Amino acid sequence: MSNYVSVVFCRNCGSRYVDIDEWTDDGRPVFKCRSCHVKEPVSHFTLGRGKIGNTELLAARDTIAKRGGYEK
Ligand SMILES: [Zn+2]
Repeated sequence: MSNYVSVVFCRNCGSRYVDIDEWTDDGRPVFKCRSCHVKEPVSHFTLGRGKIGNTELLAARDTIAKRGGYEK
């Protein structure tokens, strides 16, 4: 059985190592790229963790959202 998940990538450098290690004073998580250290608060989303295989990761990279649709 497979489950659909979304993968968060850094738009600055393309890294998949996006994490939350700080919160704003008003309780919002700050998404931070562990590769290039860019960070920004997000109001209505958070992260979960799980292992996915290389095939699924490549498929996620191939479908990165772009303005006007998904890149293929
Ligand atoms: Zn980055």
